[in-house]
Amino acid sequence: MDETLKRSLKAYLRHLQLLGMEDIPCRGDVPMDPERELQRLAEEVRRCRCCPLHQTRKNPVPGEGNPRALLVFVGEAPGADEDLQGRPFVGRAGELLTRIIKAMGLERQQVYITNILKCRPPQNRNPRPDEIRACIPFLWRQLEIIRPKLICALGTFAAQTLLETREKITRLRGRFHPWRGALLMPTYHPAFLLRNPQYKRDVWEDMKMVMAEYQKLTGQGRR
Ligand code: URA
Repeated sequence: MDETLKRSLKAYLRHLQLLGMEDIPCRGDVPMDPERELQRLAEEVRRCRCCPLHQTRKNPVPGEGNPRALLVFVGEAPGADEDLQGRPFVGRAGELLTRIIKAMGLERQQVYITNILKCRPPQNRNPRPDEIRACIPFLWRQLEIIRPKLICALGTFAAQTLLETREKITRLRGRFHPWRGALLMPTYHPAFLLRNPQYKRDVWEDMKMVMAEYQKLTGQGRR
């Protein structure tokens, strides 16, 4: 087993233990229902006290969308609007993400949208390493349940966390990175685009590559 996988598995088991799980249910070959699994996971997120952010959050934001999505968008962490509504990307950055998704010929309900952190950091400060460590097993499990073929990492934190690198987003974006059987495209965060609209062209180039892969997959009649 490779070291990255071993570390993720260890973190995941520790996370389950912290949530009070004593046994690992073994389903044999009973097919799982991704919708139900994601609902159960969302309930765990709502009960989670693994890091101090649960003390300041109004609502946790597990994620939303198609449990069988081919494409998953991963952002950084909920902001004020998301914290109020308990839904990802519903503020100004969210409106821009929704427009990007539509421009790709898709609807929000066809994809899945989530974040590295499920609770808002106070004053929207950057996620801290201990918070990422505590929360990341939720994302690993979401991706295991959904099994997307394409992942779009929005911004530095999502890209660096998923790819386990310190490389700059400017160097990571613009090409696919193999990620556990899927293809991962890092791109700029919509909030960054709101402040720096001149980078929208780059994001569109990245999204065109994602769309081309998406069309190949749907052309094969999957989902
Ligand atoms: N920014 C993010 O990274 N995620 C959200 O859900 C909203 C804004």
